[in-house]
Amino acid sequence: MQDIANNIKDIQERIGQVLLRCGREADQITLIAVTKTHSVEAMELALKNGVSHIAENKVQEAMRKLPMMQNKDFYFHFIGHLQTNKINQLLSLKPYLIQSIDSVYLAEKLHKALGRTNRSQDILIQVNTTEEEQKSGVNFGNAEELLWKIASYSTLRVRGLMTIGKLHPDPEISRPYFRQLRELFEKVRTDLPAGFDYLSMGMSHDWEIALEEGANMLRIGSAIFGERYYGEDR
Ligand SMILES: *Cc1c(COP(=O)(O)O)cnc(C)c1O
Repeated sequence: MQDIANNIKDIQERIGQVLLRCGREADQITLIAVTKTHSVEAMELALKNGVSHIAENKVQEAMRKLPMMQNKDFYFHFIGHLQTNKINQLLSLKPYLIQSIDSVYLAEKLHKALGRTNRSQDILIQVNTTEEEQKSGVNFGNAEELLWKIASYSTLRVRGLMTIGKLHPDPEISRPYFRQLRELFEKVRTDLPAGFDYLSMGMSHDWEIALEEGANMLRIGSAIFGERYYGEDR
């Protein structure tokens, strides 16, 4: 547990070094602590030590943990596969960003749920850049078309793109995929309203590569909290 503070400090320092190398500013980067499977105590500790964004990938788990948080001053991100029957529960948690919108079907259901309560929601489009079958996300080739369709929903504000690199021990493998998403991000950005700002890519093993390729939102779990145990209490 006491490692959490050190891990965050270490990552923030390394982020600074990569940015310096790339000539970018530190305040452009959002570090998200991915807290899935970890305790409320661990989450509180992260918040106490310089993180203000946390992410979960299961609605049930978020519903259980978020109400127990003492520190209410944080941004909650949803980064997992969203089942349509969990949309209302997720919205009740007031997510800052839902990062995993990957189909018109899902966008439509979300739009309807939001319309009933007169709310809007910031989202990212999840792109399956590596086209691995076990992953969620729209295929790269269909991403732009999906983006324009979703951008037309009045309740949904598309704030950027999200991807997961290859789950491969050598993070260099993911560089071309990160670069490809960055290029799409820059291309569509010029034609979208202001607010299309986030390029969410990079996890514990590959965030430095993602950052070099232009990511401005990093989702880091195990490098902050240690290994995850998918135990009985899920
Ligand atoms: C779990 C998860 C992460 C964090 O993974 P680590 O390898 O532990 O950093 C990031 N993004 C998504 C979508 C995840 O599900």
